[in-house]
Amino acid sequence: MSQAKIIDGKAFAAKLRETIAAEVAVLKAEHGLTPGLAVVLVGEDPASQVYVRSKGEQTLAAGMHSETHRLPADTSQSELLSLVERLNDDPAIHGVLVQFPVPDHLSQATIVAAISPDKDVDGLTVTNAGRLASGLPALTSCTPAGCMALLKDVLGDLTGQRAVVIGRSNLMGKPMAQLLLAADCTVTIAHSRSLDLPTICREADILVAAVGRAEMVRGDWIKPGATVIDVGISRFPSRDPVAAAAGKTRLVGDVAFEEAKGVAGAITPVPGGVGPMTIAMLLANTVSAAKRINGIAE
Ligand code: NAP
Repeated sequence: MSQAKIIDGKAFAAKLRETIAAEVAVLKAEHGLTPGLAVVLVGEDPASQVYVRSKGEQTLAAGMHSETHRLPADTSQSELLSLVERLNDDPAIHGVLVQFPVPDHLSQATIVAAISPDKDVDGLTVTNAGRLASGLPALTSCTPAGCMALLKDVLGDLTGQRAVVIGRSNLMGKPMAQLLLAADCTVTIAHSRSLDLPTICREADILVAAVGRAEMVRGDWIKPGATVIDVGISRFPSRDPVAAAAGKTRLVGDVAFEEAKGVAGAITPVPGGVGPMTIAMLLANTVSAAKRINGIAE
């Protein structure tokens, strides 16, 4: 049985970060502009702390300005909103990202609505979602944008491909479907109420799984030769009992990788596929936002 090409998101993201760093150097030299990203973390969710640290480190490594605002878990909605307002008005900041999830007493929708659409580098505001759906230039949610970059790298032109996206969240499934539609794919969005998911998936030339259920997509759900993008992340204790006792976890995707790689034409692994693309696209979005805010052509 032939084996799928394994899509190396880690290597692709590293190359992308180099390109972004080179662009930042030009913006500094030719326009005196240093793109700036502010990340706000409320509380001490362990996974969020890791993500926020990586975002700060990679922003600095690309030569950009980075600010991380760590707020206590009992921060009030009005305190958080006034910080967002301040960042919206700060000329050194071009991207504002509030790390989700936030503690239960805070409203994610209200926080997103407070972020200036021009600085919404997570692409979550209604304005950016609407612009994407209307075919206008938009800041697009980083993970779907990263998936598209990988798909275009593997497949080139996507015109006419049948694409199935499993998941319909505002963060992932919906923008993914919009991006595939904009690339002239024929798109189906599946979700928890979809009937006969395996049959829907078997029609897909491109299958994007963004659910969060470990190994839900089996090998026999995949059309031979299809390109499979596995966005899902589920955490389990490490297989090494000593590491597990120390709290180390391993990541598992939505796709049963060992089965799928014997059927698919190309597939992203978990970890090392989609994951590394997210921060690289966040940096790219921050550079785009900085250029648009300063009237510099893209
Ligand atoms: P989410 O908001 O929980 O959405 C999950 C989606 O999956 C929902 O639309 C849900 O359908 C659907 N779903 C749940 N059970 C299903 C089932 N049995 N069959 C078909 N569909 C089902 O999650 P998300 O934010 O979109 O993220 C999805 C996954 O991607 C998570 O594992 C997350 O950790 C991962 N993720 C990874 C990255 C990365 O950088 N790699 C970034 C973002 C997210 P309903 O709408 O009907 O409930």
